[in-house]
Amino acid sequence: MKVVNFLSIVDPQKCNGDKRCENLCPSGAIKVVEKIARVDESRCVACGKCREVCREGAITMVRRSEPREIVFDMQTVSQEKIQALCEKTFLLPDMLICACTGTMVKEVAGAIIGGAKTPEDIVLMTGAGSGCGIYCMGVVFQLFKAAGIVIPDDPRWKNLPLTPRDIPDKIADKYPEYYFRGVI
Ligand code: SF4
Ligand code: SF4
Repeated sequence: MKVVNFLSIVDPQKCNGDKRCENLCPSGAIKVVEKIARVDESRCVACGKCREVCREGAITMVRRSEPREIVFDMQTVSQEKIQALCEKTFLLPDMLICACTGTMVKEVAGAIIGGAKTPEDIVLMTGAGSGCGIYCMGVVFQLFKAAGIVIPDDPRWKNLPLTPRDIPDKIADKYPEYYFRGVI
């Protein structure tokens, strides 16, 4: 679960429209329109990435008047389907997937069964990926793959750290003593 207390705002006088923020925002909240970055309040998960990447100092984080909670309601999807999807990936449903938000594997699996099609959807439905976004995404990709969903090509999801199960088959076959195949 994520409690979103802050919101990013853009100073249009400082913004040069270079899209560095847009190309990093995990929830698609910030977009450059007519050379000025604009924030969709309803999508901002206050990760602070836009502020970190902005070279012009155009972004500040301000406190929201009301905090916003992002939590996936597990009762809206079949528990059997969640279990089956987790089993396909050899992941334990109660395993923590995102240490920043305390999101578990079963919540992300539930969101995928509930209609998530992109990592952006996962961020907005569960909060996972709204913190550092480094360690959770490899597992999110595994769950999408197991569900047969192809993630859209997007620079935001490239060059993220992978998990041992992303090791190519020929490497895994060469070193059978390592448990690349998810043997548990
Ligand atoms: S990174 Fe900063 S300067 Fe660039 S578009 Fe975003 S707000 Fe504007
Ligand atoms: S704080 Fe994070 S979610 Fe909000 S606009 Fe910036 S990059 Fe996007």
